[in-house]
Amino acid sequence: MPAGKLHVKKGDQVFILSGKDKGKKGKVLSALPNEKKVTVEGINIIKRHARPTQKVPQGGIREMEAPIYADKVMVVCPSCQKQTKTFDVKLSSGKKIRSCKKCGEYIDK
Ligand SMILES: [Zn+2]
Repeated sequence: MPAGKLHVKKGDQVFILSGKDKGKKGKVLSALPNEKKVTVEGINIIKRHARPTQKVPQGGIREMEAPIYADKVMVVCPSCQKQTKTFDVKLSSGKKIRSCKKCGEYIDK
């Protein structure tokens, strides 16, 4: 695997293996390969104070997802709905796509 590449990418459904959100599932919002982290929808929510704006002059608290380490998540297979390890399959076109180790279906479209 080339440096800076993660086993998950934006749009994947993932299962959280550890931490306060252990056992939950969510969609990868962004992948940060250089930090080996991902942000996952609804996972590791932190509260940030928002600056007052014209619309919300008193400011407020904004909730947002903080990145978590990519090795704490596993891909959820869109075919069998299980968290799984993946392996690369090389297509005749030369393109590599990920497949589910449990059911063998392609994960990438
Ligand atoms: Zn599967």
